[in-house]
Amino acid sequence: MGSVKVEQLTKEFAGVKALNNVNLDIQEGEFFALLGPSGCGKTTTMRCIAGFEQPTSGTILIGDKAVNSIPPNRRNCGMVFQSYALFPHMNVFENVAYSLNIKQLNSSNIISQLGIYGRLLNRKLGKYPKDIEKKVMEILEYVELDQYASRLTSELSGGQQQRVALARALVMEPAVLLMDEPLSNLDQKLRHTMRNTIRRIQQDLGITTIFVTHDQEEAMSMADRVAVMSKGEVMQIGTPTDLYSRPATPFIANFVGTSNILKGAVVETNGFTIVKGEGFVLKSSQQTNKKGVDVIIRPENIKIYKQNQEQSAVANLIEGKILVSTYLGSIVRYDVQVGSYQLTVDTTYSSGESILGEGEKIKMSIEPERVLLI
Ligand code: ATP
Repeated sequence: MGSVKVEQLTKEFAGVKALNNVNLDIQEGEFFALLGPSGCGKTTTMRCIAGFEQPTSGTILIGDKAVNSIPPNRRNCGMVFQSYALFPHMNVFENVAYSLNIKQLNSSNIISQLGIYGRLLNRKLGKYPKDIEKKVMEILEYVELDQYASRLTSELSGGQQQRVALARALVMEPAVLLMDEPLSNLDQKLRHTMRNTIRRIQQDLGITTIFVTHDQEEAMSMADRVAVMSKGEVMQIGTPTDLYSRPATPFIANFVGTSNILKGAVVETNGFTIVKGEGFVLKSSQQTNKKGVDVIIRPENIKIYKQNQEQSAVANLIEGKILVSTYLGSIVRYDVQVGSYQLTVDTTYSSGESILGEGEKIKMSIEPERVLLI
C-alpha cells in the first residue's frame, strides 16, 4: 500500500520550529507536490517521511503502518535528490544495480548467503545475477538509457544523470517515490522534457509520488494535488485548478500564478457583493460576511478596451493608464495604473495587432464571477 499520511507533524531544530502541525493525506497512486518558497519546510517534511529526520512530534503512516520507528531503508521509499547523488566511479548499470544487489544479498537465504563472497567477487568483475541484470536493463530501457549502461555517470548530461537517479529509485519497486527538487539543476528546456518523462512514468507505474518544488509551474503542471506551504505550515491543499481559481489567502493567490490584489471594503450586498477601494468599485458574484476584503483578479480575466472601442453593457468598467507593455509572443502583458494600484493585465496577441503604448488611457472590464474575495 503506497498511501502516505502525515498527522500533526512538528519538527524543531534547536528550538526553532521548521514544521508546525503539518497534516497530509496522500492517496495511493497520487502525484502530490509540496510547493512553497525557500525555507518553508518542504524538504524537512519529505525527510521525515523518508526517515532521514525524526519528527519532534506527530505520526507518519505509509499504507496503514506507522513508520516513525522504522529506519529509512525499511520504509519502502525511493528517493531522488536534486544533486542526483550518483556514484561517479560506477557506470550507469552499476549505479542502478547497486541497491538491488545489496537488497538481494541481505534478503537471500542461507544457501545463497554461503555464496556471498562469490557474488561480491563477481560484482568486482562486473558480473551480476541474471535476474538483477534483466531488471536493471528493463528499467534502463524504460528511461531510455539502455544504450548508456556501460558509461560512467560522470560522462553523462544532467538530464541523463537525473534519469539514472530515477531508474535507481524505481528499480527497487518502492511503494512511494520521493523527489526533492529533482529538476532544478537542469536548463529550462530539459526541465520541460523531464517533467513529461516523470509524469509519464508515474502514471504508467501508478506509483505514489511526493514531489518537492519551489516552482509553481512545475507543481501545477505535474501534480494531481498540491500542498502550498509557508513558514512550516500547510496553507492550502487542492488540485492545481482549485488553487488557481479559489486561492484561500492572498499569499497563495500570489504564489500560484500572478494575481492583482486590491484592498477593498464591502459597501453593498444585493445578490452581488459591491466592493469599493482606492480608484475602483467592483461587483463580485461571491458572497462574503467580511467588511474588509482582499480582491483577487487574475491578469487574464481583465479585458482591455481602447479609448474609442465599443464597451456597452459590460460589467465592472474601470479606467486606467498604460504604464508598460511587454510583448511575450502569444500574449502582451500590460502594467496599468488604476488609482494607486498597478494592475497586471494579460491580453492574447495575434500577429499584426497593434500594441498599446505607454501613457495611453484605456478602460477595462472584469466579469463579476472573476472577482474573487478573500
Ligand atoms: P528550500 O526550498 O530552500 O530547500 P525548504 O522549504 O525545503 O527550503 P527546509 O529545508 O525544510 O525548507 O527548511 C525549513 C527550515 O528548517 C529552514 O528555516 C531551515 O533553515 C531549517 N532547517 C532545516 N534543516 C535544518 C537543520 N538540520 N538544522 C537546523 N535548521 C534546519
